[in-house]
Amino acid sequence: MRSNREDRSPGEDPGLLNLEEFLERLFQWFANNRRDLPWRAEYSPYRVLVAEVMLAQTQVPRVVPYYLRFLERFPDVFALASAPREEVLLAWEGLGYYRRAHHLHEAAQRIVEHFQGHIPADITTLRRLPGIGPYIASAILGIGYNLPVLALDTNVRRVLSRVFGAKEGANLCEIGNLLVSHMPSGKARHLNEALMDFGSLVCLSRKPRCFPCPFQRFCAFVKDAGKESRIRQRRTLLEICVAVCCAGEEVLLTKSEGKLFPGLWGLPLREQDGEDPRVWIDALGKRYGFSPLALKECGVVAHAYTRYRVRARVLRVSGKRTGTLSGAAWVAFRELFQYPLPSLFRKALALGCPGEYRP
Ligand code: SF4
Repeated sequence: MRSNREDRSPGEDPGLLNLEEFLERLFQWFANNRRDLPWRAEYSPYRVLVAEVMLAQTQVPRVVPYYLRFLERFPDVFALASAPREEVLLAWEGLGYYRRAHHLHEAAQRIVEHFQGHIPADITTLRRLPGIGPYIASAILGIGYNLPVLALDTNVRRVLSRVFGAKEGANLCEIGNLLVSHMPSGKARHLNEALMDFGSLVCLSRKPRCFPCPFQRFCAFVKDAGKESRIRQRRTLLEICVAVCCAGEEVLLTKSEGKLFPGLWGLPLREQDGEDPRVWIDALGKRYGFSPLALKECGVVAHAYTRYRVRARVLRVSGKRTGTLSGAAWVAFRELFQYPLPSLFRKALALGCPGEYRP
């Protein structure tokens, strides 16, 4: 990751975005696109706690009316803690996952009992409260208290992993920590909400709206997609025939000689050239000591490799073993797992011998 935006000169491949520039672009976007949500009308750790518990399993539009009614009935942690459980469950009715309501009520009671109604401002204590996992605890700190903590929900994880090409786990947390350390002071709430909104409105899980997106020129995800599509365009289509030659419980494997899997064990194959496949099957029988008795067209399987897209017509040939083998082996179906067969052959076996082959 680059650390200094001056590193980049005009016309240069922009490389990965530096953190200051990421924050600047994100905040610019957020200034025009911030979602107006009721738990953002007024901030308090209690409001964040209620909202995040509700949002844990439920979509935003459904949560909004419940949140408003809940806050009206239980405006603070004392009101919630002192309410009978039935009343809390009644306010939750229809929102589902009632364990959340039980936990929220218990958490409020402990906060009143042990912390004089003050929601703890450290992650360890928060996580000891019922129903509060790492995400909700971080949201209370980062949004409720505006402390320099990033709440990594699914949306935020997706945005960071796509823009910076970060992997799940330590790599993602490291980027989160770096972002927090680079953000202007007092902006934790802003950063958390901006990332959440960006992930919910632009960088969508299935169909990210990359055009336009403030990070599109720098985004690792877009670059990788471009590479992948260039590779796809470069792949040559290979149309081949694959023979699944069976004799009783055994299948014929040969050492491949062609350009696809040179030197690997696999099923006999040849490029399609319009010749009647029976001629090829007869030649195979002579070469490998096999007498073909019946031939069945099973269909087509496809697989893509780095340089080729392969479409394979699968022929099942039933017969019996005859002479000595050279460069081939008869292998029992149950022993096939011992051979590192390329995926294309496994697909062909599954299509040609669905009864015998167990992948
Ligand atoms: S360019 Fe696409 S994938 Fe990258 S951050 Fe923007 S929306 Fe997400």
